[in-house]
Amino acid sequence: VPISNIRNFCIIAHIDHGKSTLADKLLQLTGTVQTRDMKEQFLDNMDLERERGITIKLQAARMRYLLGNEPYCLNLIDTPGHVDFSYEVSRSLAACEGALLVVDASQGVEAQTLANVYLALENNLQIIPVLNKIDLPGAEPARIAQEIEEIIGLDCSEAIHCSAKDGIGITEILTAIVKKVPPPQENADKPLRALIFDSYYDSYRGVIVYFRIIDGTLKKGDKIYFMASEKEYFADEIGVLSPGQMPVGELFAGEVGYLSASIRSVADARVGDTITHFGKKAHSSLPGYEEATPMVFCGLFPIDADQFPELRDALQKLQLNDAALKFEPESSSAMGFGFRCGFLGLLHMEIVQERLEREYNLNLITTAPSVVYRVNRLNSDTIECSNPSFLPEPGMRKSIEEPYVKIDLLTPKDYIGPLMELGHERRGLFKEMNYITENRATITYELPLAEMVGDFFDQLKSRSKGYASMEYNFIGYRESDLVRLDIQINGEPVEPLATIVHRDKAYAVGRALTQKLKELIPRQMFKVPIQACIGAKVIASEALSAIRKDVLSKCYGGDITRKKKLLKKQAEGKKRMKAIGKVDVPQEAFMAVLRLE
Ligand code: GDP
Ligand code: MG
Repeated sequence: VPISNIRNFCIIAHIDHGKSTLADKLLQLTGTVQTRDMKEQFLDNMDLERERGITIKLQAARMRYLLGNEPYCLNLIDTPGHVDFSYEVSRSLAACEGALLVVDASQGVEAQTLANVYLALENNLQIIPVLNKIDLPGAEPARIAQEIEEIIGLDCSEAIHCSAKDGIGITEILTAIVKKVPPPQENADKPLRALIFDSYYDSYRGVIVYFRIIDGTLKKGDKIYFMASEKEYFADEIGVLSPGQMPVGELFAGEVGYLSASIRSVADARVGDTITHFGKKAHSSLPGYEEATPMVFCGLFPIDADQFPELRDALQKLQLNDAALKFEPESSSAMGFGFRCGFLGLLHMEIVQERLEREYNLNLITTAPSVVYRVNRLNSDTIECSNPSFLPEPGMRKSIEEPYVKIDLLTPKDYIGPLMELGHERRGLFKEMNYITENRATITYELPLAEMVGDFFDQLKSRSKGYASMEYNFIGYRESDLVRLDIQINGEPVEPLATIVHRDKAYAVGRALTQKLKELIPRQMFKVPIQACIGAKVIASEALSAIRKDVLSKCYGGDITRKKKLLKKQAEGKKRMKAIGKVDVPQEAFMAVLRLE
């Protein structure tokens, strides 16, 4: 089709408002996938994603659509649905001219809706409002349309009423995409510039790169150059996504496609990078490229020391497909050999941990996540510290800075009180509150990222009965009065349990943490003291009393199944234990600091 008949668009929505369901219906109605080929949801094709109902990796699909007798080519670019991946979202939006804004008509605008809309507006996208789930008895499309107009200032007089589930409004959406989203600009004669919005590693073909050509033309076999990674390759195969990969000979400005070029790691073809021709380079790269900066670190240690090489291999393999994952070897007397790993955020961390265990069959102990501190030392240099046990002693440092985030909460007015309490408990600096409608308000705080790592989101949900939503952005480093809290078990320091806390909270955290550890660590044959210290000073102390009897003596004589069950339970528990000196410490103990009352 001519470029005037191409439309590139994405779908933005708050989680669970129906983005994936709608994408599937668009693919079905345009005959892009046959119903019988459909997996649960075609666009979210990673198992983990499907289980968690979140979109992690971006994908794209080309649809053919006839309006009257005119054939159109509609490229749908999917976006991830979690704040950890907002950079990826912004690059996908930059590859489009328009966006469907999907809002659940029984829920209304949420924090992520707003954040996504702002990203779309920054990228000058034409936004088409879609009110989804109108089949629900509680749906109030008229009221929600008004809410969108008030909050976002978007004209909703032509908002489309839709039920992605029942297939209502799908044709109207396709027609609106053709009529309202502008076609790409005709830049085919300029030097090549293509924006990478996704890439993944395939063990047979190397990295597959998804891109949108902004300027110029790309032919199969061309020698290409990645402007940020400064790597050159031959584009062995190029093609379109329909939605399976279909090779073509040539792609033009405005089109969306994929390429493979025997690229060995996604780090060479990172999201946001610009592809140009090696022999005829563009003058400047496309705007918006950012290096991935890990914000959260944790230690990963194999329970069985023999699995160390396997863990290293697995991390290397995951990194081929994940340029944001960082790791380096770490060892401690308590834990033996493992790795310190860096992640974009908590979700990213959980995904990597889960994949290591499921796909690589590793048995790991994970230490509590830490943010990256900046320590200004007496000798006037500044070091970064992502491992609390390595924090320089007070005599060595002038000051410590910690990362701060701006968080925007969106909540019904009934929960403003409880949420402001939460903000206060987490050392939040209240910035502002605005009523966006009569019943709902946004609350903005600046607070330390360290206070958000852990159960902040769970607390937000439980204190608002599930009704509040949030978004956050990193805003920079600030100086804080922080101290290191060390934990000793049976007189031995356990480095992975060390944590950095604000001085004002140190005593409370020390007390709560020793109590929690006492609950979590199984009793031993001898008495085990558990202590929290700042420097040489013990600030809290508990003791596990000794057990004398054999566990099996609890069971009544002949009940063999019960005995077996008990032994099995013990064996399972063992898998998740790390022997620290003479004491077996279970996985939960390493995470205890995240869930203190
Ligand atoms: P996403 O997180 O935005 O991708 O949302 P999903 O497409 O995964 O949908 C979230 C939930 O809402 C799923 O249980 C869907 O079945 C359901 N859902 C999606 N669209 C509709 C709809 O139009 N009506 C109803 N009743 N449920 C819907
Ligand atoms: Mg989804």
